[in-house]
Amino acid sequence: MTHQTHYQAQLAQSSVNPSLLCGHCNSILSPSKIFRNPGDRDFDGSCAVIGLCSADDCGSVNCCDDALSRVDNPSRIVDLAS
Ligand SMILES: [Zn+2]
Repeated sequence: MTHQTHYQAQLAQSSVNPSLLCGHCNSILSPSKIFRNPGDRDFDGSCAVIGLCSADDCGSVNCCDDALSRVDNPSRIVDLAS
């Protein structure tokens, strides 16, 4: 049984199109790895949007709520339409 540590995704503001960075290794989080919290116990229930780091040696679970709240139009990063 593993205990996953949750990180806070960081917002990369240097690029024209904003992107989210892994709070652990600063890799860009692929939009395909960002999704609404399915409510599983594996994820932090207090986090609405989850981003999984795709770096081979990382794989951290990131909470994207705070970063996305600072983006004017989060849909530019990821399509969260349900
Ligand atoms: Zn990472």
